[in-house]
Formats: sequence, C-alpha cells, structure tokens
Amino acid sequence: MHNFTDTPDHTTSDAFANLVATSARAGLIVASQHEESGLFDKEHKDTRARVLEVRTGASGGLQVHVDSSGLNLGQKLFIERVLLRHLDHENLTGVSIYFRKASSATAGAQPAPVARKTPYGIAVNKKNIPGTKNIIAVASGKGGVGKSTISSNLAAGLAKQGLKVGLMDCDVYGPSAQLMFGLTGTLDVRNGKLVPQERHGVKIVSFGLLSDAKSPVIWRGPMVSKAIEQLCYDVLWGDLDVLVLDLPPGTGDVQLTLAERIPLSGSVIVTTPQDVALIDAHKAISMFETLGVPVFGVVQNMASHSCSACGHIDDIFGGDAFESFLNDRKISCIASIPISRDIRLASDSGTPLVLQENSFAELLSELSKTVSDRLSQQEITGHHSEAPRQSLSDNVSTGDLVT
Ligand code: ADP
Repeated sequence: MHNFTDTPDHTTSDAFANLVATSARAGLIVASQHEESGLFDKEHKDTRARVLEVRTGASGGLQVHVDSSGLNLGQKLFIERVLLRHLDHENLTGVSIYFRKASSATAGAQPAPVARKTPYGIAVNKKNIPGTKNIIAVASGKGGVGKSTISSNLAAGLAKQGLKVGLMDCDVYGPSAQLMFGLTGTLDVRNGKLVPQERHGVKIVSFGLLSDAKSPVIWRGPMVSKAIEQLCYDVLWGDLDVLVLDLPPGTGDVQLTLAERIPLSGSVIVTTPQDVALIDAHKAISMFETLGVPVFGVVQNMASHSCSACGHIDDIFGGDAFESFLNDRKISCIASIPISRDIRLASDSGTPLVLQENSFAELLSELSKTVSDRLSQQEITGHHSEAPRQSLSDNVSTGDLVT
C-alpha cells in the first residue's frame, strides 16, 4: 500500500509512474495530506481513494480505475488532479482516470444495458434535476457568435420576470458566465454538493467558478461529459422555474451527454446571419430535432450595426442567407440583436444589458418573454418533448466515469 500526496516532486512522480505502469495492481491509496488554498484541497484534505486497477492501452496510455464509493464530485476532481500530477511522466502518452464502483470493476468490462438507442447511438436515460421545472439549452454550433451573451441575458431576463432561474455554463474550455455576471472566487461545497453563486436573481454554476480561471483545462471528452452531468445533479439548485444551459459550441460529447441524461424542455439557437455560422447552426438544429428536443427558434445576433456617429445601419454579415436559412428549416427568428457597444460593455461589466434601461435591452427582454411564453404553452398543452423516461440510474451501473 502506498500513500501519495498532492505535492509531487520528480522522484515521487517517476516512482509512481513506474509503479503504476509495471505493477498494475489494486490497493494503491491516493491521499491528501496538505491543505492548500482552493475548493478541492480545503474540502478534501482527508480524501482517500483506492486504485482498483491499472491498464495499459494500445497506444501506450494508462487507464487508472479508482473506486468511486463514497466520493463526491469535488473529491473525484481532487483525486484526478493528484493522479494526473503524479503521472505526468514523459514515457506516458496519455492518462485516463476512471471512477467506478468497486463491484462494477471486479465484474469485468461488461457494457451496461441501456434503455434504448437514439439515432446517434447514445443511451437515453433521462433523469430530472430535482426541483427544476424546465431546462432550456442555448446552443450555437459555431463559437464566438454571442451564445453566452444571449444565455446570460436570457437568464437575467427570465429572472426579471420574477421566475426562479439558474444558469449553468457548460463550456468547460472557455467558461464566461462568471465574467458576464461579475462573479469571483470558487463555488462553496455544502454536504458534498456545490452551492451556486447568485447574482441578479440568477443562480450560477460555471466551470470558471471551479478552479483557477487562468489554468487551461485539459480534460478529455468522457471526463467532460461526466463532469457536466455531475454539475447538473451535484448542485444545490433549490427550486427553479427555468434552468438555462449555455452549451459549448458544436455537437459533440457535451451536447450528447445532455441529450442523453437531461430532460430538455426546448432549445434556442444563436447564430450570426453569415454562411459560415449558419452551416453550424444547421447542424445544431438537426441534432435537437433528431433527439426530439423542440427548437423554440433562432436568435440572430450581430444582425446589423448601427453607427453611433451617423446612425447608418450596416448589414455587416448580410441578411439574404439568414432568410433562406429560416425558410429551409421552417423555423422562426425569435430575436434579432444588433452589434452594439452597449451589449459588449454590459457583458464585460457583469450586468447583462437586459437589466438596464436601453432600447436594445428591450429586444433582449422580448426574447426572454417569448421563451417564457413557449414554456407556459408547453405547461398548458402538457407537451414536454422529452418527458423523463424510466431512470435506470438506480439499478444500472454505468461506470462512474470522470475522465
Ligand atoms: P460565444 O458564447 O458564442 O462564444 P460570446 O457571447 O462569448 O460568444 O460573445 C463573443 C464576444 O462578442 C464577447 O466579447 C461579447 O461581449 C461580444 N458580443 C456578443 N454579442 C454581441 C452584440 N450583439 N454586440 C456586441 N458585442 C457582442
């Protein structure tokens, strides 16, 4: 049995890598003996975890399987960080850390049974977030089109209407909700659950509030998916009328994880009216349609530019392509937001523009009104596209994977 602390030196790192790579035996203990600043260390200075199994992959990478019994999200992230630091070894091409119950590890690599397959080949196994009535995904396909700006204004606009609102920034690699709401520090942990920070009536969880904002995140796909899932379920959201999910760009792991696990009431697509963004918006719409999630409509962001000196309106990205896009997809534009210095300044200052007195703020208010109307309509008609299906989570081991 070996103890490893969270303060590696070269000797320990090499010794540990060698030991793990060659012995591939169960019984290693990861332990923290030092209290550093930051969420995980303070909270988890007494964390202990058992390494169940180590495998070497075909490409020379290591798979380290850790017993997840009794570990919460913060502890898992902490253990993963300790292991990755110690396994930072030049001879290793990669390290993947898997958390799973000891029993499922010993049972061998049996694939978990699934409820049914979607057209994307993923297991649909929906699970409500307790206390949350509606969940809306804001997606874009392309990055940099203003999705986070729209998400934060939508969340703040819904809160302004008196609704109980949460915002989850799912962008692991470039979170921005904390900046757009002027938040600092890290999330507190209470009874093993993350406590959202609250600003302008919105409860906010962001990867940017989990760790040092300037360190790069180097998680791999499956790890991201699991972390996203845990960020939904291991959070003290309380009662929410609406939870807004600010998705990262694309149609990859994160989007599929959410589609697989979370009963979405609907989605909003954000795009600029430019071909290069519309191509990706097409993909995002197709993904939601295929997965049976209603698309409430498209927000055309940076639709035009109004010159603050002469008032001339310029269609920087053109408009024809956007019109054909709407016709092609038989989808409606639910807001058209110009490029505005006010919007940019408001985001940078931590108070979404929708909360200020401004003509553009009205456009953003109308957007949140349109979305809340769609949600009320669903409640009246009883239509909830992806009503939670039978949850297998209690009787099916899916392998508690964090990386
Ligand atoms: P995404 O989430 O799609 O990557 P962001 O919301 O982070 O995009 O926006 C990218 C940048 O563009 C930010 O600096 C933001 O302040 C700015 N921005 C977004 N929408 C507008 C707008 N309508 N007018 C002016 N600036 C905008």
